[in-house]
Amino acid sequence: MYDFKKIEEEILEFWKKEKIFEKLQEKNKGKKKWKFIDGPITANNSMGVHHAWGRTYKDLFHRFKAMQGHEMRYQNGFDCQGLWVEREEEKALGLKNKEDIEKFGILNFVEACKKRVEKFSKIQTEQSIKLGYWMNWDNSYYTMSNSNNLHNWFLLKKYFENGWLYKGKDAVPWCWRCGTASSKHDIATEGYKEVKHTALFMQFPLKEKPNEYFLIFTTTPWTVPANVAIAVNKNINYVKIENEGLFYWLAEKRVEEIEGKYKIVEKKKGKELEGIEYIMPYASFTVQKNSPHKVVLWDLASEEEGTGIVHIAPGCGAEDFDLGKKIGLPAISPLNDAGIYDKGYEQFSLKKYSVVNKEVIEDLETRRFIYKTVSYKHRYPHCWRCGEELVFRLVNEWYISCKEIRKKLISGNEKIKWYPEYGKIRQRDWFNNMGDWLISRKRYWGLPLPIWECECGNIEVVGSLEELKEKAVDKKKVETLSEIHRPWIDEIKLKCPKCKKEIERVKDVGDAWLDAGIVPFSTLNYLENKKYWKEWFPADLISENMPGQYRGWFNSLFWASQTLTGKVPFKALFGYETLKDEKGEEMHKSKGNAIWFDDALEKIGADIMRLIYCLQDPSSELRFGFNAAREPKNNLNILYNISKLIGNEKTTNVKSIEDKWILSKLNNLVKLVTEELENLHPHYASRALQNFWLNDLSRSYIQIVRDRIFTEDKAVKFILKEIYLTLIKLCAPFIPFITEKIWQDLKTKKIVKEESIHLSPWPKSDKKKIDKSLEKEFENIFLVLETGLAEREKIKVGLKWPLAKATITSNFSLKKDSLEIISRQLNVKKIKWKSGKEISVVLDEKITPELEAEGYAREVSRKIQAFRKELGLIQTDKVETYLIVDENFKSILEKEKKLLKERTNSSKLEIVTTGKETFKNKTNFNIKDKKGEIVIVISGK
Ligand SMILES: [Zn+2]
Ligand SMILES: [Zn+2]
Repeated sequence: MYDFKKIEEEILEFWKKEKIFEKLQEKNKGKKKWKFIDGPITANNSMGVHHAWGRTYKDLFHRFKAMQGHEMRYQNGFDCQGLWVEREEEKALGLKNKEDIEKFGILNFVEACKKRVEKFSKIQTEQSIKLGYWMNWDNSYYTMSNSNNLHNWFLLKKYFENGWLYKGKDAVPWCWRCGTASSKHDIATEGYKEVKHTALFMQFPLKEKPNEYFLIFTTTPWTVPANVAIAVNKNINYVKIENEGLFYWLAEKRVEEIEGKYKIVEKKKGKELEGIEYIMPYASFTVQKNSPHKVVLWDLASEEEGTGIVHIAPGCGAEDFDLGKKIGLPAISPLNDAGIYDKGYEQFSLKKYSVVNKEVIEDLETRRFIYKTVSYKHRYPHCWRCGEELVFRLVNEWYISCKEIRKKLISGNEKIKWYPEYGKIRQRDWFNNMGDWLISRKRYWGLPLPIWECECGNIEVVGSLEELKEKAVDKKKVETLSEIHRPWIDEIKLKCPKCKKEIERVKDVGDAWLDAGIVPFSTLNYLENKKYWKEWFPADLISENMPGQYRGWFNSLFWASQTLTGKVPFKALFGYETLKDEKGEEMHKSKGNAIWFDDALEKIGADIMRLIYCLQDPSSELRFGFNAAREPKNNLNILYNISKLIGNEKTTNVKSIEDKWILSKLNNLVKLVTEELENLHPHYASRALQNFWLNDLSRSYIQIVRDRIFTEDKAVKFILKEIYLTLIKLCAPFIPFITEKIWQDLKTKKIVKEESIHLSPWPKSDKKKIDKSLEKEFENIFLVLETGLAEREKIKVGLKWPLAKATITSNFSLKKDSLEIISRQLNVKKIKWKSGKEISVVLDEKITPELEAEGYAREVSRKIQAFRKELGLIQTDKVETYLIVDENFKSILEKEKKLLKERTNSSKLEIVTTGKETFKNKTNFNIKDKKGEIVIVISGK
């Protein structure tokens, strides 16, 4: 068995000691460039097996392109800033919320986040190296660097100059725990969870007719004190029904919500209800003094659920806010940034929204404002970092308008080659439907937004340190600024050019996707060295996990590049889906089903992991577990074991059709693997490779030429070497350790010269050696063999025993050489060919004494050969062989004495019934019911 753990460590040591990766870069220096931009990994925790999946692809494409002889940058990136890192560090420090952080000190907290990034980027580097990932690890980029932040300042200034960067007030999804907005970009895909809430069917009386009610549906009772209006759809039919002496208004389609007997007494279009005033339970609150509390019209009011009459609170919902803006409703936003009710709401003031939620239900119940309550299951937005339920509140945030850029993003996307192809459509959908980009976060560890805002209304956006110095009140402070982060940057005050007042920076940091989006510029020194940037921009490829990135990295890359250059930053995008556990469930630390990279490396090793990843169809979820490792492990063993057959035969004439066939298959394989990798189909490439070594080589060719291997046939030895060396070169980018190990073994035997397999060039396909009609011939041979071998199973005569005849019927004919292969493989003396519609094989089951003798003789010669091997003898060593058997067996074997002598390389072979017992090299054997002893006398030694 191939000991992956020992060998992978040994190979890592070899690469390091001999500087193989450095030699590879040196070799390709100045050659045609292949450009890759790395999507940064969040340096937040140790790697999981899902990280290793993505990193395997990146390494695979790099190694492939390196063997083809391209110069590359090999730059890995670490994502360092933002709520992801903050959240993990808060947990580590035991800080519960922003108040705790401020008590701990922003400086201390920022330093702690930085330390975390330093620690985990080191760990991830070590882990990646163990995966076999070749990168210039000393040259990794960090998104927290001054350069990255300053490139983003430059970009934000461009947005501002274009008139796209603006401060907007909106009801936004807000995490009360994290104390920051969660943009729609954030929650679009993974921010929703299915939860149960208490939903209310409220009854609000009409002001003029107190025994008539509007029935209003809401799932967020805590927002009711902020209600300013109710909405109906002008096109929907509403009815007034009588129910136990009272009258209720609701959509005709929703009358099923009425309890008990009822009767429809009036019918009206929504439009006719417009302007009717109602009694709002909290109208006496001071904050409510400007609210109309009447029916308004709204196209989004739907009769699909609830009552068709909608509670409107523009300070507590994004759509409500839009409506309010359009028709001039006040927006009441009761929550502060920690989710606590502000003053001005009487009994609810200074209470958390979840408490208010309960109290509102109780209060409305007592005051008879509730018709009924139901338990309501729905998908509700949650903070995608900490998992808490989001609320909506009215805040000032910074946005980038998508109005002008949208079209350019869409047309840019069309120019890109995507694999899987559906990614392009999803990206287009995102661009079509996205809103303005909310980029500000009221947090600490992140890109400090370069925005200074004055009371007079003037806004200064700073695009560089030079500009900052120019505008700063205290220029010294800019000169000594240690880094572009909070809290240092907050110290810098500007002088307002309009009113001359001193102004402070807005406290916000940027959305972390800005950090990753700028890397095609920051990592290529866009601001410092345009010439260098031009050489390496745009990338030929980027490769990343898809589900989160349409609105994440892909999105921010497109925005940055389109704005700065009007071009797309990469030509092709390779994406892959999600990694799940063996049962198809999402891996989570908290669930206990997550597999850490270190555990997987310990249990199955890097190559097996890599093979699993490469074989996976990237467009479907990968179910990863240790059971799935058994088969690839076995397959790698087969690949490894073939290496033991490889000898150093220089050159020879190829005559046999099986040799020509395997060479044809090999040259096809080279062509296919090259094309599939160029087309970003690593799964097709790796499957073709595995199929070749398992089926074409191991199960077919080696089986067919077994006897020739046995007799050290020169052509076979030469071809096996040729095939195998090409095969492992093709495999090298996928499974770099085992192929290097094999290479080093062959180097020791002087079969190969190149220092490392990874320094050898990518194989080229020889068109002249591809013979499609021969391949077709062999497909037919294998069809016959399959049928014939199945027939052998049926008659229960082992393949070792020769049979007199096989009668084969088929609808095709085969060449004479092909029939010989069949006769050898089926171990039959004669083949009779008949033409017919279906393939069938009929075997002559009769075993004559001659056939039996031959069978025994072949078996005995195998035993002798095995014993020779055990004694350490090689092919050319001549020996005397004695067989000690009983009289009956002796008489059988005597008939095949010549065959026995030839097949065992014996200078003398004798079959005896007694004597020779005193010899040293002796072994017992059994064949069916016969037994005996083999004695070998080594002559000339
Ligand atoms: Zn949160
Ligand atoms: Zn001013």
